[in-house]
Amino acid sequence: MQVERGQPRLPGFDEEELPEPTHPAAAILFETPVEICRRVFRDVRPRTPFPEFSVEFCRFANANSFIRSENGRLELRITDALEAAPAPILEALAYILICKLFRKPVPPAQRHRYNLYLNRQDVRRSLHLLRQTRGRKHISGPAGERFNLQEIFNELNERFFNGLMAQPALGWSRRVSKTILGHFDPSHNAIIISRLLDKPNAPRLAVEYVMYHEMLHLRYPVETNGVRRRIHPKEFRDAEKLFPQMKEAKAVLETLCGAARRSENW
Ligand SMILES: [Zn+2]
Repeated sequence: MQVERGQPRLPGFDEEELPEPTHPAAAILFETPVEICRRVFRDVRPRTPFPEFSVEFCRFANANSFIRSENGRLELRITDALEAAPAPILEALAYILICKLFRKPVPPAQRHRYNLYLNRQDVRRSLHLLRQTRGRKHISGPAGERFNLQEIFNELNERFFNGLMAQPALGWSRRVSKTILGHFDPSHNAIIISRLLDKPNAPRLAVEYVMYHEMLHLRYPVETNGVRRRIHPKEFRDAEKLFPQMKEAKAVLETLCGAARRSENW
């Protein structure tokens, strides 16, 4: 469950909408990653002299990749999960990173190709495994200053799931996040709730509703179809409406996020 800066986004509005498929270009063969980067750079910056490039595949715990420019050198650090990816995927990633660095719009076909690859079932599976084995996850445990997430989980489990939902790990976020009120992490089978909701001005209803929303993520996994991901499928939406005070809870969350923002001068 996520809200964005400047514009509170409450549960129900954080769906990822991606463009319709386009035709991937023909494969580029026999190019090294550095050669791919040089070619992409020439396309994005036709008149800028070539910098020196370095491309490094790193053991990250996720699919993130990074770019930085230092002393006339462009350094790309790419997750080693993509080391064996076909050249057109590296090309697409080079476009994404180099465009980002120069604040240029990423060509939609490149972004699409990259997303399509990351959404492939085998790629998702290996990334999931990577997060599970490499990702260190700090999980605080259910006890907060005011609320105990285990108690709330148990109550909701009885009320809405006949007590049948398997126990995930429960924890409070390390940061007091006003943008991510809660999330379910399938790689660690953990529900994490923002510490914002453990503050003195947060009513129990707010924690209950966010917890219920995250429990529904356990119950209804993300549906993937090509590049589209349905984070909140229809069954999810319908089940969410069973929470009797949903409107009231959403209003409370909006106030809490707004109040937190104002105190930070956002
Ligand atoms: Zn959600």
